[in-house]
Amino acid sequence: CGIIGYTGWREAYPVILKGLKRLEYRGYDSAGVALQNGNLKVYKKAGKVAELENNVIGKDVHSYIGIGHTRWATHGEPCDRNAHPHLSQSGELAMIHNGIIENYVQLKQELVKKGYTFKSDTDTEVLLNFIEEVKKESGCLLEEAVRIALRRVVGAYCILLIHRDDPETIIAARKGSPLVIGIGKGEHFLASDASPIIEYTKEVVYVNDYEIAIVKPDELVLKNLGNDKQTPFITKLNMEL
Ligand code: GLU
Repeated sequence: CGIIGYTGWREAYPVILKGLKRLEYRGYDSAGVALQNGNLKVYKKAGKVAELENNVIGKDVHSYIGIGHTRWATHGEPCDRNAHPHLSQSGELAMIHNGIIENYVQLKQELVKKGYTFKSDTDTEVLLNFIEEVKKESGCLLEEAVRIALRRVVGAYCILLIHRDDPETIIAARKGSPLVIGIGKGEHFLASDASPIIEYTKEVVYVNDYEIAIVKPDELVLKNLGNDKQTPFITKLNMEL
């Protein structure tokens, strides 16, 4: 029920972990994080963020990019396997998702026919592999694959994706579930609400429904599902910590 992302010059894991704790109030049953350091590293656990934290002690968390999730299960029981982030079939993509993909059964059937197998019972893993399949079929960029795939999706979502070979870029999209992007100096923060962002920056962009954000440390590009660039509208937060 909460998402957080970071790309920039800080170590991402502590930022993500702190952000997940700030999002705990929204309610959840599992938590997880994906980091990128040559390869994708995914750590996830049913239960509290503190359990995830204990589980990750001693593991390699070095990364300047990361995505984190607290899950409120809608499809598939709360357990480690169904917790987010999910990895795509090829292992190239990691994704987190808040919301519900209503036509996931149909998309799943199409993917199973093409040879996909699934490690979880979630609607999220279906959307992720659908994005991967679109990318594979058309040979396009990840942001384009996300855009094309989302035009087939019925439901509500806020998704964040990272790629195994891209140490800088988070692709985000939303419809119906909230997404705020915090603008820093050489860094960006993404979250379900401003509470995990406010200690780093007061400048935020509220992403609109049907928009895709391509987020790098020094650049934020917003597009609609028709591939037209949108001008980010920067809001100044005046809340105190
Ligand atoms: N529908 C997804 C799942 O059940 C996401 C749930 C959420 O919003 O946390 O895993």
